[in-house]
Amino acid sequence: MQPKDTTTNEGYKGFTNAGCPFLPCHKGVQREFNCLFCYCPLIAYECPGPYEVYTDRNGLTRKDCSACTLPHDGYHQSWNFIQRWLEYPVPWSGKPQTDPPIRRPKPPGHEDLSDD
Ligand code: SF4
Repeated sequence: MQPKDTTTNEGYKGFTNAGCPFLPCHKGVQREFNCLFCYCPLIAYECPGPYEVYTDRNGLTRKDCSACTLPHDGYHQSWNFIQRWLEYPVPWSGKPQTDPPIRRPKPPGHEDLSDD
């Protein structure tokens, strides 16, 4: 097995589970449907997705990510999206998504840098 820093095979960035009875579980995906991030690693963190907020049967506030395609739209694109947002993860506040969506967190001391 090669470390991912030295391999040119990028198969680890995504796959489509064609046998899944729920595929496609999110509408609007334009590229390859990436099932790697089912469930989304950003569920407990601030993110730019179009989630709705609801209260579950235990009284906990949760995200409903039904309308979000960000972790699924293209193997490379969704991989890069998740890596960028996990660089400086910020625990989710439990509040609804903002308009415009929340911006990607910056390293401490660099909050004024423009987004890339
Ligand atoms: S809204 Fe999208 S990016 Fe945010 S946690 Fe849900 S699936 Fe992930």
